Amino acid sequence: MSADTASAKYVTVPCQFCGTRNKVNMARVAHRPKCRNDECAKPILLDRPFPLRDDTFADVLAHAEVPVLVDFYADWCGPCKAMAPVFDAVAGELAGRVLVAKVNTDAAPIVSQAHQIRSIPTIMVFRGGQPVAQQMGALPRAQLLELLRQGGVAV
Ligand SMILES: [Zn+2]
Repeated sequence: MSADTASAKYVTVPCQFCGTRNKVNMARVAHRPKCRNDECAKPILLDRPFPLRDDTFADVLAHAEVPVLVDFYADWCGPCKAMAPVFDAVAGELAGRVLVAKVNTDAAPIVSQAHQIRSIPTIMVFRGGQPVAQQMGALPRAQLLELLRQGGVAV
């Protein structure tokens, strides 16, 4: 086993098109890995916020070998919209090192309640499936990175 293989980190995410669970080597995110379902074979896009729902959140978090940064938002939320480009940019910047995800709180009431989301946007950092840092309100890039550092993520 090469050093590369030994240090490889994986996430397991559902294909956004067909729902097939795909185990993705984070080192290969930039190569746009394709869904392993041959009839689908659509790209798994992890260089932008990955949408998680009530039925996928726990599974993805439980199997993520990298830290996960989650934006809990809603479509009607002005500050969420204002922050979206920043969050998108950070997702591109951290691609391969951090799984950047988003949860539409209106569409995911179970996850939102489980994490006591009372104000949106709320940004949370998870490591090993557990929340390690969180912050309410729209954050500029520097504060997003600072929140990750608070959670022990070297960025
Ligand atoms: Zn697929």
